[in-house]
Amino acid sequence: MIKENATGSRESRVCSFAAELVVVGGGLSGTCCAITAARAGITVILVQDRPVLGGNASSEVRLWVLGATSHMGNNNRWAREGGVLDELLLENLYRNPEGNALIFDTILLEKVIEEPNITLLLNTAVYETRKEGDSIRSVKGFCSQNQTHYELTAPLFCDASGDGIMAFQSGAAFRMGAESKEEFGEKFAPTEEYGELLGHSIYFYSKDIGKPVRFIPPSYALKDITKIPRYRQFNSKDFGPWLWWLEYGGRLDTIHESEQIKWELWKVVYGVWDHIKNSGQFPEAENLTLEWVGHIPGKRESRRFEGDHILIQQDIIEQRDHYDAVAFGGWSIDLHPADGVFSEKPGCNQWHSKGVYQIPYRCMYSRNIDNLFLAGRIISSSHVAFGSSRVMATCAHVGQAVGMAAALCTKERMHPRALSAPERIGSLQQSLLRMGQHIPKLALSDGLELISSASIKASSHLVLQALPPDGPLLPLVQSAAQLLPLKKGKVPAFTVWVKAAKDTVLTIQCRTSSKPDNHTPDVLLAEHMVNVNKGTHELNLNFDTSMPEAAYAFVCFLKNEDVLLQYSNHRVTGLVSVFNKINAAVSNYGKQDPKDDIGVEGFEFWTPQRRPNGLNIAMNILGGIDLFGVDNLTNGVQRPTRQPNAWVADLADTNPSVVMDWNEKKKIRSIELFFDTDFDHPLESVLLTHPETVIPFCVRNYRILDANGNLIREIRDNHQTVNKIEVEEARGLSGLIIELEHPEENIPAALFQLIVK
Ligand SMILES: Cc1cc2nc3c(=O)[nH]c(=O)nc-3n(C[C@H](O)[C@H](O)[C@H](O)COP(=O)(O)OP(=O)(O)OC[C@H]3O[C@@H](n4cnc5c(N)ncnc54)[C@H](O)[C@@H]3O)c2cc1C
Repeated sequence: MIKENATGSRESRVCSFAAELVVVGGGLSGTCCAITAARAGITVILVQDRPVLGGNASSEVRLWVLGATSHMGNNNRWAREGGVLDELLLENLYRNPEGNALIFDTILLEKVIEEPNITLLLNTAVYETRKEGDSIRSVKGFCSQNQTHYELTAPLFCDASGDGIMAFQSGAAFRMGAESKEEFGEKFAPTEEYGELLGHSIYFYSKDIGKPVRFIPPSYALKDITKIPRYRQFNSKDFGPWLWWLEYGGRLDTIHESEQIKWELWKVVYGVWDHIKNSGQFPEAENLTLEWVGHIPGKRESRRFEGDHILIQQDIIEQRDHYDAVAFGGWSIDLHPADGVFSEKPGCNQWHSKGVYQIPYRCMYSRNIDNLFLAGRIISSSHVAFGSSRVMATCAHVGQAVGMAAALCTKERMHPRALSAPERIGSLQQSLLRMGQHIPKLALSDGLELISSASIKASSHLVLQALPPDGPLLPLVQSAAQLLPLKKGKVPAFTVWVKAAKDTVLTIQCRTSSKPDNHTPDVLLAEHMVNVNKGTHELNLNFDTSMPEAAYAFVCFLKNEDVLLQYSNHRVTGLVSVFNKINAAVSNYGKQDPKDDIGVEGFEFWTPQRRPNGLNIAMNILGGIDLFGVDNLTNGVQRPTRQPNAWVADLADTNPSVVMDWNEKKKIRSIELFFDTDFDHPLESVLLTHPETVIPFCVRNYRILDANGNLIREIRDNHQTVNKIEVEEARGLSGLIIELEHPEENIPAALFQLIVK
């Protein structure tokens, strides 16, 4: 029994912890930062003011994780981010293809608590920051659940808290609101009338309970739905992230007036639900109940802290190169009217670039606080560039870069800025590439020494002669194209199959991208107008043109409703079909066509279909495409870019294998394999369901053997991109054999990279 006498006052308990890195904020950026740093060998304290991790992706807010794949609605091919985030999203796909936000919470929590280097403090809000000179010395947090103050000390800190509580208190330079057009020459900079800040949103989810259910709104619900100019868009089906435009607060102080904004949003949400349930306009909503309403608003924008580089519109649109690129983005520049749900204007104004863009490391640390990293939406960017970099997969990718940077700074006893030096930044880039973080235009070279010194032979490799015509005939209601990787030089001749309902002229083009790493077909190389008579035909196409450099070609079949095009059931790593179609969710109306001079480019969107659709267009390729050789395993690129970058086995090979031979014994401690988990496919974490739990291209079963055929390890049911196999007691081996099973009947086994250490 505890019994204390009356006293004047008491102090709450204080616990002091020290680590090599303190991360404030457990959104996706903070979580991915902490995991990356911990795996790279440093001790981390992750402080999160809420009961679960994930920030806006958690079950408390329920946004779906988006990034450069942009719902598959723009021209960024194979653009899923990679690294820890990818591991989380693939795990979520495996366990939770239905997109239940609660399951995603458990995955984030599991991955964090499995890291022995991480001390996780949940329900702990950081409220005070102490400094010594220009460095942060410690922060204080309070957990109301256990009435404990925490004093957290570290040589390095990362602010991933969204509003930047620690960065703000430390005196780091920041901005809030929009820059003028003149400041950085950003032609898309908004006017004051449009607004300078994005507002908050609160989501609701509804559920059919199979019997009528009534709704009596709280007294504070919005009574007059016509106050929302776009109220006619409401229906009984849309909920959750589809109603992202229930937005408010862009004209207020999105930090200090956050509670006021939240009340207004609750008013809106319950008013909208009252309209759906009780206006009489939606009889189909009779059995629907409110399953969940957010208690915490999702915050879009507040402070952005200044680093040594401020990311701007031109970095995104021109896809500028940066010597210190460590992450990338690819969401559109997506600004919203500050009046949000009460605005007459469209809910968003989105403009895409022709491909993904690099994010420099210099955006990820404070320019005036020596030991402060920045991650998430607060990184150093203009308001316009933030419109793109703010999505969660991009935030997480930045977080990973920061986590790795913190580990390197710890090992070298450096401050964040020192690592940005041109002679040092390579170590960060290489360490990131090593863990599967894609950085556009960069290739891994570190760690490939051992594998590059081996003689590597494969049991077979694909020479793509044909995508057999064993799939459906589908109408050419939208222009369709097959992406094919080609070498510089002559474009091969093709045979395709069509069926015409009547005599017609079919336009077939060969296009490529003006930038070889992009997949926007903005360069017309050749065009044929082919007379097709009624009936089924084999068309032989010889474009008589050349690829200016190694890149993807687009064999385009322009829309013709009288024509059916023959597809193939065969899928191959690095091949995809695309369609000149609309995806209104990301402001893709087939073509981006800026009417005003807003500093963005006009181009067509050619985008893939989600599986189970999205078959390749059947064709024979004269001479075949010979780009899937075993040499790809050591080229340092782990996904298709301007070329497929994968070793792909021949589907007829019954035991696809790679054999490495060193002529002498090498001490081998680990083998890392990078499989194809289709970086083209977005893995939204909630609401949008997925047709599969394992990406079809991913090799599930494989065996690793020594040169004499003795089994070292057998893996079954893999669903992850990166597999690291530790070799017990670091064995001396003169060779290795990797035997893979084709993942599916119509998909050959593929591997992007092998690292042997
Ligand atoms: C309504 C809405 C719709 C959006 N739509 C999408 C979308 O569909 N897809 C997408 O990818 N992005 C979307 N975004 C953008 C995206 O959600 C944010 O930009 C992103 O979440 C920012 O990531 P973050 O890690 O910086 O912040 P957050 O996700 O907000 O995470 C920050 C974390 O820090 C914690 N924290 C804050 N203060 C403290 C403190 N003092 N102490 C300890 N912890 C603290 C918070 O609890 C939070 O968990 C949307 C944003 C909003 C608001």
